[in-house]
Amino acid sequence: MTHHALEANHESLVAIRRHLHQHPELSFEEYETSAYIKQRLDDLGVSWTSMATTGVVATIGFGKRCVALRADIDALPMTEETGLPYRSRREGVMHACGHDMHTSMLLEAAAILKRHESELGGTVKLLFQPGEEKTPGGATMLIDEGALENPAPEMVFGQHVNPDATTGTVSFVSGPMLASADEISIVITGKGAHAAQPHKGNNPILAASSVINHTQTFLSQERNPLQPGLIAITSIHGGTATNIIPESVELKGTLRSFDQEWREQAWYFIEQTIPQLCSLHGCRCSVTLGKGYPPLINSPEAVSFARGIAERLARTVDSFEPKMWAEDFAYYAQLVPSCFWMLGVRPEGIETMPGLHNVHFTPDEDAMTLGAELLATTAMHYFTTPARQE
Ligand SMILES: [Zn+2]
Ligand SMILES: [Zn+2]
Repeated sequence: MTHHALEANHESLVAIRRHLHQHPELSFEEYETSAYIKQRLDDLGVSWTSMATTGVVATIGFGKRCVALRADIDALPMTEETGLPYRSRREGVMHACGHDMHTSMLLEAAAILKRHESELGGTVKLLFQPGEEKTPGGATMLIDEGALENPAPEMVFGQHVNPDATTGTVSFVSGPMLASADEISIVITGKGAHAAQPHKGNNPILAASSVINHTQTFLSQERNPLQPGLIAITSIHGGTATNIIPESVELKGTLRSFDQEWREQAWYFIEQTIPQLCSLHGCRCSVTLGKGYPPLINSPEAVSFARGIAERLARTVDSFEPKMWAEDFAYYAQLVPSCFWMLGVRPEGIETMPGLHNVHFTPDEDAMTLGAELLATTAMHYFTTPARQE
């Protein structure tokens, strides 16, 4: 195959993106977004099936070899304050994580790939995934409904807009990229009493302070210091007055890591050790762990392939410094060698811009051309590589 440019249509990208941006929908409620994607695919003559209610899985090309491209389609519960003419028309809902752009770029990649369908050496699967922003996430649902079967992709590629890099920049990291995220909720129940008679009660506040300190001891003593990982207790509620020992205290926090083994060790610590610690204070303790997305681990092989394509198309290719955010693309990467890259969307000449999940988030629409071309070219050229051995 020749290395001809697979050109994206900028005007069409902007038109699609603005439509999606004006009509954002919350996780797992993306009914209009889903209908819009299907309509656009119909216009292109691309076949699709519905999955996970509001998800859409489209295929282009033929044959058993397969590669998948993924975009998430949901928006966030916040009210946009950019004042832009094409701002969200829905109070309390905003595409503040750039998923409108992800969807637009994948739709434009579909248009490019459809034009070149006869030259494709395999099947390209397009995963329009609902509910990235809300656990358990749409990725597991697509996977459970068979999105990665018949044919099974050899690799999965996805991208996220990145306000920390300028338009024209693509950033990669091999191995751990984003963290696992689990929600911790702890209720410590003691025995209320007059503060002047502590021996007649069991103070859950004292137990809570032990628990909080002990989480940090666990972090420093039970983790290889070269391995990243954190437990942050971010909420504490209990008590009403200076002279009353309260009945109970409630703690909330988050557990983040890049390492599944250590993550499981931390679960054990939280579920088993914390109640023991509370019992030393004469308190009972109930722990609820909301297990979230696993760490996102990029495959070195998939990264090196996608990076090679980016080096031909992007102005700048650089390294992404891993972050403790979470992202459910991780589920694809657990099953199939995958690469998730970051696409710079900060307008040229601006030092900093409001970040993801900010009511003022205003990514540069010009960045989408590169993103769409990267997706299409990565998929197209993938089939020129030798098939992976099972
Ligand atoms: Zn987000
Ligand atoms: Zn996102």
